[in-house]
Amino acid sequence: MKLSQLRHWVFDMDGTLTLAVHDFPAIKRALSIPQDDDILSHLASLPAEQAAAKHAWLLEHERELAVASRPATGAVELVRDLAARGYRLGILTRNALELAHVTLQAIGIADCFAVEDVLGRDEAPPKPDPGGLLKLAQAWNVEPAQMVMVGDYRFDLACGKAAGTHTVLVNLPQNPWPELTDWHAKDCVALRRMLTANAPPA
Ligand SMILES: [Mg+2]
Repeated sequence: MKLSQLRHWVFDMDGTLTLAVHDFPAIKRALSIPQDDDILSHLASLPAEQAAAKHAWLLEHERELAVASRPATGAVELVRDLAARGYRLGILTRNALELAHVTLQAIGIADCFAVEDVLGRDEAPPKPDPGGLLKLAQAWNVEPAQMVMVGDYRFDLACGKAAGTHTVLVNLPQNPWPELTDWHAKDCVALRRMLTANAPPA
């Protein structure tokens, strides 16, 4: 399978299409969440009222980050290239849906994604659960094996493997998770180059 033969691409957003700006240790300190705990899982375990207050703080904090988003190296060019090829593109993020749209607008690629193909934290179970990818597979009427999940973290890759998609790790110089990775590119410039090099003969 060549990368360019995969016409259905799903991207993680934060740290994959944007420069990573979330300071997770600081968020955990602000919300009194133990440093070893997962933020969303921790909030889910709290009494409803407490969880709602902390979710509201998180949303406000993330809104400020979303408005100020900057694209990751080569991300805009890669996404525009894929969209120009007519490939179907989706987003699977643990960010809130509304903020995902704000972020895609801020970095100038919102028009490359159908609104319903952007899944936030309330539209799909959190990665590495494969639910979000399976939802897109069904909506697109394709087998997961015809899709590729692109991300910058283990959860993205594990999510792809659990769903049965191909996986790409970007934005890390080394690959700490080779068993979960089909392709590794140090950034989206390198990934776009791999895509072109892999292109079938015209
Ligand atoms: Mg990420």
